[in-house]
Amino acid sequence: MSGENVIMQVIDENREDLIDLSDRVWEYAEVGLQEHRSAEDQARFLEEAGFEIDMGVAGMPTAFVASYGSGKPVIGLMGEYDALPGTSQKLVPDQDPLVKDGAGHSCGHNLLGVASLAGALAMARALDETGAEGTVRYYGCPAEETLVGKVFMVKEGLFDDVDASLCWHPSGLTTVGLGSSSAMNSVKFRFFGRSSHAAGAPEMGRSALDAVELMNIGANYLREHVIEQARIHYVITNGGGEPNVVPPEAEVWYYVRAPERREVEEIYQRLLKIAEGATLMTETTMELEFLSGCYNTLMNRPIAEMIWNNMEKVGPAEFSEEDETFARAMAENFSAEQRDRVIRRVREEHGVDLGDDYLHEGLLPPVEPKGRSGGGSTDVADVSWVTPTAQFSTACSPLGATGHSWQVTAASGMGIGHTGMLQAAKILGLTGWQLLTDPDVLKKAQEAFEEDTREEKYVSPIPDGTPPPLHQLPGH
Ligand SMILES: [Zn+2]
Repeated sequence: MSGENVIMQVIDENREDLIDLSDRVWEYAEVGLQEHRSAEDQARFLEEAGFEIDMGVAGMPTAFVASYGSGKPVIGLMGEYDALPGTSQKLVPDQDPLVKDGAGHSCGHNLLGVASLAGALAMARALDETGAEGTVRYYGCPAEETLVGKVFMVKEGLFDDVDASLCWHPSGLTTVGLGSSSAMNSVKFRFFGRSSHAAGAPEMGRSALDAVELMNIGANYLREHVIEQARIHYVITNGGGEPNVVPPEAEVWYYVRAPERREVEEIYQRLLKIAEGATLMTETTMELEFLSGCYNTLMNRPIAEMIWNNMEKVGPAEFSEEDETFARAMAENFSAEQRDRVIRRVREEHGVDLGDDYLHEGLLPPVEPKGRSGGGSTDVADVSWVTPTAQFSTACSPLGATGHSWQVTAASGMGIGHTGMLQAAKILGLTGWQLLTDPDVLKKAQEAFEEDTREEKYVSPIPDGTPPPLHQLPGH
């Protein structure tokens, strides 16, 4: 049997086990760096399939690498399994948390991890069947939502010998995106003042909260004088205790994003000056905690083309009647505007009319992105700067359901998500297999990578000696 036939067959044959694994991770719903059971179950699954497991890599207990085969080339498939706080949801189309205030898989990372794992498993069985040379690796990457896992894994050198890597993401649409993502820094500014009775002796106090507020005012004035695509957002994570105590300590958490890494660096340096200015105005001191940073994504064109070809080979998803009914019922719970916006965007960008669809059952061909990207960030980006990388999405949730919402949590734990996950697994397996066994396509991917990185080399955004932010977790 050809390697490609083995890939398709292994995923079909393991269908129930893969769904079961994904559902378990969905139920655990563990947030970033706490994904102990999720990582453990995935590692055990691959260990039983003959993979060699390296658990707790790059200083993170929930990060692991699973390898199968030997020698070159080395092809990496990336998986994630972190959930998001406050988005717990039962498998029903109306909002109803499974665990009150609990976390949920509202970004579908339970599907993300298991599809990549399934692709790696299928490639391993194809290696057995064909006797081909090469190594397949599954990267168990924790804490994607906080942009921690892969950035620290890259810094540790875990991707240095990888010849090409693949990732994907659950979405409402099945397509290959050619656009990038924003580079970003995530930093906490902690100010220290002097407490005092706010009414009795206000002149004795120096308010750390004042420093936070003045810093935010400075940052809000900065907005007018940065590039349009930049994004600066913050939350006050500590604003003091009671109004009658001048806050001796206060903290604000910032994200700075821009289309390219050097632009983030530039804006970040100016933000540091603003923080410094706030300390001068308030006679406070400041301590800075750099949590993480990431690059913008380099999408490898030759691999993206392979993915598209394989997407056509695997074909569009076929959702069950039950899934369709569920999606329709769910659509009544969000504004028609949400669904309309997606349908309008697809019409504008792809020239495809999704009409009355509630679930996307087609394939949208890749289109050139318009202008430079803004928007969200991903730590897949950092891998894309050290090895040729491409990613895609498959439909795993109803059209118009937004990421990080309870709607996506529900879809990720049922037929809708399972269907998209198994489709993604096949696309990953086939593309990975071609990269592993066809030296010509791998060479093309690597040449494109050389070209893309000729002028700018990757420098980890993480300052040397910075540990993964494990101490941020409850109980640390
Ligand atoms: Zn995600």
